[in-house]
Amino acid sequence: MRAARITGVGRTELAEVPVPGPAPGTALVRTRRAGICGTDLEILHGTSAFVRDGRITFPHVFGHEWYGDVVAYADEPPPGAPRVGDSVVGRTMVPCGRCPACHAQRAQMCAQLSETGLYGLDGGAADYVRMPVHALTPLPAGFPEPAGALVEPAVSVVEAYTRARLAFDDRIAVVGTGTMGLLAVQFAAHHAARVDAVGIDEAGLELARRCGAAAVHHADAAPEGAYSLIVEASGAASAFTGALRLAERGARIAMVGVAQQPVTFHPGELSLQGLDILGIQHGVAHYDRTVALFRRGILDAAPLVGHTLPAEAVGEAFALLEEGRSGPPKILLDFTAERD
Ligand SMILES: [Zn+2]
Ligand SMILES: [Zn+2]
Repeated sequence: MRAARITGVGRTELAEVPVPGPAPGTALVRTRRAGICGTDLEILHGTSAFVRDGRITFPHVFGHEWYGDVVAYADEPPPGAPRVGDSVVGRTMVPCGRCPACHAQRAQMCAQLSETGLYGLDGGAADYVRMPVHALTPLPAGFPEPAGALVEPAVSVVEAYTRARLAFDDRIAVVGTGTMGLLAVQFAAHHAARVDAVGIDEAGLELARRCGAAAVHHADAAPEGAYSLIVEASGAASAFTGALRLAERGARIAMVGVAQQPVTFHPGELSLQGLDILGIQHGVAHYDRTVALFRRGILDAAPLVGHTLPAEAVGEAFALLEEGRSGPPKILLDFTAERD
């Protein structure tokens, strides 16, 4: 089978590798499409924490945003498992299910965590991927393509609004107009009184308007003290202090983006303004809900997908991601074309 791999810093290939063999409790899934994102780019650059701490070694089969069709089970599947031929999304975080964190429903904190396409499990950017059956979420018949590839990033948006206790009367600012930001706008447009988008890219802000933003603001000109909930989805360090300015008293700030640089701020402001700062991890518990959101059209992949390239074009796909283009942010690799 073909597998898209990162073979070293700055290097990718589409390799011919064996189809992964059966293992107890797993299913073999035939990939349809796989998205790439900034996390994959960090692996390519060698700056990912997982590369630095040795959890990722090269060659690395990436792909944590993907969907496909179940082709076989290694053994008798548990009751309720997707049927052979059903479409599924594979979850990124695969917890052990046995440790204290898992028993406390905090899978993100599992001491033996694997993450599909990151460490411990090969990713979905290949013709086939082998997944633990308990880490598959079924996609209902008629689920819109290619929304399956957007479920993975969207679960963290659902986690952000869950942790922030989104209320119908919230006035929300979403900072950043990448994939996560646009999904956050779509969700809020259906669930809250108002959502505005804040960003630095004009085309991205226009997309945010199409996704349901009532108003869009350049980051330098956004109204201060005007929002009860801010979702930081840009990943820019300066967006944290920007979010503090946007917040009204008592607001919640959900940090979805993963900024790498330090910023300076006055800690006293947090207590004086009564702000809740929430660090949002991956929403591993929200796959079923998120699939339903796409099914009902509350989340919509169509305006987000900028390019769908054949698997052979893996290098070109990363080059496009690296360019930092404006416009629809998501880049997908298509594994359905030219397959034997
Ligand atoms: Zn991602
Ligand atoms: Zn565990």
